[in-house]
Amino acid sequence: MKCSDVYRHICDNLDQRLGTRRCMEIKRHLGACPDCRAYLESLKKTVSIYRTLPSPPLPKGAHERLIRALRESGCLPAPAAGPRKPGTRRAKK
Ligand SMILES: [Zn+2]
Repeated sequence: MKCSDVYRHICDNLDQRLGTRRCMEIKRHLGACPDCRAYLESLKKTVSIYRTLPSPPLPKGAHERLIRALRESGCLPAPAAGPRKPGTRRAKK
């Protein structure tokens, strides 16, 4: 397993029990690679900081305004957009 493999899969595994084969490989790699260990530590710190932050209360109507703004800007589809056209969205790889 290479460092790039560890980076790619580490996010998937951060929240799970490290029991799968890939996790074991990551663990083994981490044991031998200080770079990846440092990376994982900083990642964990970031995640834990975000978890301790309370979500700020939204002002009344802010959610609706946000949704409406996103719809108007085209970032969100309109609520009743009709049947979905197949093939318009490509799966990211
Ligand atoms: Zn590494």
